Amino acid sequence: MSFDVDCVVAGAGVVGLAVARALALSGREVLVIEAAEGIGTETSSRNSEVIHAGIYYPAGSMMARTCVAGRRLLYAYCAERGIPHKNCGKLIVATAEDENAKLAAIKARAEANGVEGMKLLSAGEAQRLEPNLRCTAALLSPTTGVIDSHAYMLALQGDAEHAGATFAFHSPIAAGRVRRGRIELDVGGAEPMTLSCRLFVNSAGLHAPMLARRIDGMPAEQIPQAYFAKGNYFTLTGRSPFTRLIYPVPVPGGLGVHITIDMGGQARFGPDVQWIDRIDYTVDPRRADAFYEAVRRYWPDLKDGQIQPGYAGIRPKIVPQGAPAQDFVVQGPAVHGVPGLINLFGIESPGLTASLALARHVTELAARP
Ligand SMILES: Cc1cc2nc3c(=O)[nH]c(=O)nc-3n(C[C@H](O)[C@H](O)[C@H](O)COP(=O)(O)OP(=O)(O)OC[C@H]3O[C@@H](n4cnc5c(N)ncnc54)[C@H](O)[C@@H]3O)c2cc1C
Repeated sequence: MSFDVDCVVAGAGVVGLAVARALALSGREVLVIEAAEGIGTETSSRNSEVIHAGIYYPAGSMMARTCVAGRRLLYAYCAERGIPHKNCGKLIVATAEDENAKLAAIKARAEANGVEGMKLLSAGEAQRLEPNLRCTAALLSPTTGVIDSHAYMLALQGDAEHAGATFAFHSPIAAGRVRRGRIELDVGGAEPMTLSCRLFVNSAGLHAPMLARRIDGMPAEQIPQAYFAKGNYFTLTGRSPFTRLIYPVPVPGGLGVHITIDMGGQARFGPDVQWIDRIDYTVDPRRADAFYEAVRRYWPDLKDGQIQPGYAGIRPKIVPQGAPAQDFVVQGPAVHGVPGLINLFGIESPGLTASLALARHVTELAARP
């Protein structure tokens, strides 16, 4: 079977869904092609569900801009659509005197990014907010929150469908080619088909570089190498000792072993950073030792046996371990020269928070002649 369609979005993760919604609302015909059986089965359901403020990213970077803008859009969207979320705030904590200066640097960076309300706290002020916390100083981020990410994705899917978008699940895109100003895609699965589209958005998350490499006509030198950095989570048995999210100062490759609280009040620790060669979501229980050590720096009352292996997510990195952090890459024809092709590479954290802003950016790129 062969079909012509205006826009195809590859991947029904949170970013692909937000893009599909935005394109459909802009009046375009949209087909979302998803390899899995449903929405958000990969990274979008394996993360911390934190609405990030936009604190850590270099000023002017796409991560900084889309996180701050996306966070504002996301809170508004949650309120409008009744999506469960909580603007609980977060504390970034120094646990040794020599870390205190890092908090001031983090605050300055956050303010350069336009993050509102950041406040340095003494140890006493922080402990008045969170009596179970041990720290030498803290930085309060009042705009950080948590969200029910699945309810959010369902709302995006609903909006997209309401605006005319259609979804095909169990439909992996195997390959494609650039032909006469359009992009042809070979879709596998139970009902294989060939699609021809005017716009193809590659939002395949961990697989986006591999998918781009399979599009004949896409210049190989513009496609980054994919690297995987797993983040393991452990869950806490019993009640959360904190009402806000608690983060240590960041570590290379991630934000440090932090404590987040989901919408059900369950506390979880993580993610850590484990560089891996292939996709594997198992959590090695032996990693618990490092979690106990990291968490006890700011919560000394954590008892042996109180944490259990939880789940893992994988960061879609496009630079190897040890390399400077990479910004989001949203690549349109101005970069790679292929009309009608937009690739999203390296959409790691804060991709959930940034999703509505990324979608707006993709829609604007797609509208350019
Ligand atoms: C450990 C961890 C913690 C995080 N915590 C946060 C957080 O607290 N807050 C935050 O803002 N962000 C967070 N993030 C980032 C956020 O989860 C991601 O940026 C976001 O989920 C990426 O969404 P996506 O749609 O790009 O990718 P995905 O959710 O991975 O979706 C890609 C989809 O493409 C499909 N696909 C792949 N190949 C093909 C193909 N060939 N054909 C068809 N379909 C295909 C896949 O099946 C998948 O459904 C975290 C990420 C990780 C790894």
